[in-house]
Amino acid sequence: MTVQTVGIIGAGQMGNGIAHVFALAGYDVLMTDISQEAMDKALALIDRNLERQVGRGKVDPDAKKAAMARIRTTLRLADLGQTDLVIEAATERETVKQAIFEDLVPHLKPHTILTSNTSSISITRLASRTDRPEKFMGFHLMNPVPVMQLVELIRGIATDEPTYKTLHAVVEKLGKTAASAEDFPAFIVNRILMPMINEAVYTLYEGVGNVRSIDESMKLGANHPMGPLELADFIGLDTCLAIMNVLHDGLADTKYRPCPLLTKYVEAGWLGRKTGRGFYDYRGETPVPTR
Ligand code: NAD
Repeated sequence: MTVQTVGIIGAGQMGNGIAHVFALAGYDVLMTDISQEAMDKALALIDRNLERQVGRGKVDPDAKKAAMARIRTTLRLADLGQTDLVIEAATERETVKQAIFEDLVPHLKPHTILTSNTSSISITRLASRTDRPEKFMGFHLMNPVPVMQLVELIRGIATDEPTYKTLHAVVEKLGKTAASAEDFPAFIVNRILMPMINEAVYTLYEGVGNVRSIDESMKLGANHPMGPLELADFIGLDTCLAIMNVLHDGLADTKYRPCPLLTKYVEAGWLGRKTGRGFYDYRGETPVPTR
């Protein structure tokens, strides 16, 4: 099956990056969100990020113009029913995602493939709430989408081979690399990454180190390009907590219990870069550790 039109649900950190790379690869993009403000912000951000790529000589000015012209937005979820491929990138909460798919299904064309960009939630369970579990897959792009090379492709128990092949071809057209993961909590990348981030928060919580010493230690001592707390702020602490809860509930092992300090930051609304404060305070010129 050929994919030409792509519907993106959620215009947050991931949604804007997904729209960016699909439009640049020649797909027609229709993006939706419950917030018009989020969509306006996303369009402005895509424009800025593409401009930066033009400045670096990575994107031709005409290609940028054509990409921006390929992105449309709508507040009506039902409008996405006319697309060939839907990528759901809304808030990491199962009830939110289930409600989205239930509302969308009656408006879909028969051939439309459904995917979720979820970092951790069961693809099989999300698929089971739709009319087409065989045409449903996990399509997990990494943040920031225009920069990161990997796409995890996650088959649900019912996903058929043509759907997998179609999405594999889409990943190639995006110029990215696919890795197949089985549908178990948090798949591959976050199954390994999130417990490390959670352990960094425990290290902070127990006073073994402070924000700066923990991040410096992992950058200089383990050769990580970003410290784990800096990375957590970048991902979003609500998303990190949601993924730890999925691991904890799904694998029923206490080694995945979320650190109470991570919960406290989320309860405070200190969600990281996207809200201006997390393990660092981003409201001034340079980020300042909050502990
Ligand atoms: P975000 O908080 O930046 O954006 C979520 C967006 O979804 C918001 O704009 C919100 O208004 C919108 N939304 C909420 N309910 C909606 C609904 N019913 N219909 C339409 N839009 C709705 O979150 P994000 O970081 O972009 O994460 C989105 C998804 O991508 C999550 O499933 C997350 O696990 C996954 N993901 C995140 C990262 C990351 O590093 N942040 C990486 C890979 C995958």
